Amino acid sequence: MLKVKNIYKKYKQEEVLKGVDITVEKGDVVVVLGPSGSGKTTLLRCMNFLERADQGEMEFDTISIDMHKVSSKEIGKIRQKTAFVFQNYNLFQNKTALENVTTGLIVGRGIVKTKAVEIGMKALEKVGLADRASFYPSQLSGGQQQRVGIARAIAVEPDVILFDEPTSALDPELVGEVLAVIKQLAKEGKTMVIVTHEMKFAADVATNVVFMADGKIVEEGPPKEIFLRPKEERTKTFLRRIL
Ligand code: ATP
Repeated sequence: MLKVKNIYKKYKQEEVLKGVDITVEKGDVVVVLGPSGSGKTTLLRCMNFLERADQGEMEFDTISIDMHKVSSKEIGKIRQKTAFVFQNYNLFQNKTALENVTTGLIVGRGIVKTKAVEIGMKALEKVGLADRASFYPSQLSGGQQQRVGIARAIAVEPDVILFDEPTSALDPELVGEVLAVIKQLAKEGKTMVIVTHEMKFAADVATNVVFMADGKIVEEGPPKEIFLRPKEERTKTFLRRIL
C-alpha cells in the first residue's frame, strides 16, 4: 500500500538518512525503534513531507512520487491519505478540543460544519474525551491533549496514521492512557507507523519492528524475532541497554 524507497536526508553536513526503505501494508503496525539521533523522526517527517528528502521514491497505492521533486499537489494527495500525530500534540491553543478535531475536516476535507461536529464528537468519544469537547488545550492534561491529537488523526479516516514519539513529552503517569488508545486502534486493524521508545508497547502492538541506527535500517521483522532473536550486534546491544 505504502512504500518508501532509498530515502536520503542531510541537515547541513550531517547525513541523517542514508538509504532507508519502508513498506507498509494495510493493517500493519510498523514500529520504528532505535537509539536517539538515529533518524526515526526525520524518516517519519519525510514520509509526510514535513521535511523534504534529498532523494527517495514513494509509492502510495497508485501514486508514484519522487520524494525530492514532489509538487505541492502531490503532497496534498498523500496528506489526504495520511494523518500525523506529533510528539508535542501540535494543537491550536485558541481552539477547543472539538474545534481542533473539526478544523481539518472542514478546511482540509471540505466537510460541512454540522457533519464535522458529528464526526469530531465520535472521534473524541473514541479517545474517551467526549466530556472535554469544549475545553481548550491549556485546560487539558498532556495525556488528554495527545488524545485530542489522536482524535484529530482518526477523524479524517486516513489510510495510514504516522505517530512521532506520541508519549515522549508526557509525564510517566500519563503515558499509559495514550498507549491504551493506540493499542485499541491497532486492535481495530488501523494501519500505523509508530516511532517510539516504549519497548513493551512496541512488542505488544507491532506487526513489524524496524530497528534503525545511524540513518539506516539495521534489522527488521516481526516483534518476536527482533526482541527474542535479534541477529545483528547493533540490535542486540540496543536491546540489552533498554530492556
Ligand atoms: P530521538 O529518538 O532522540 O527523537 P531520532 O532517531 O528521532 O531521535 P531525529 O530526530 O530524526 O532522530 O534526528 C536525527 C539527527 O538529525 C540528529 O542528529 C538531529 O540532531 C538531526 N536533526 C533533526 N532535525 C534537524 C533539523 N531540523 N535541523 C538540523 N538537524 C536536525
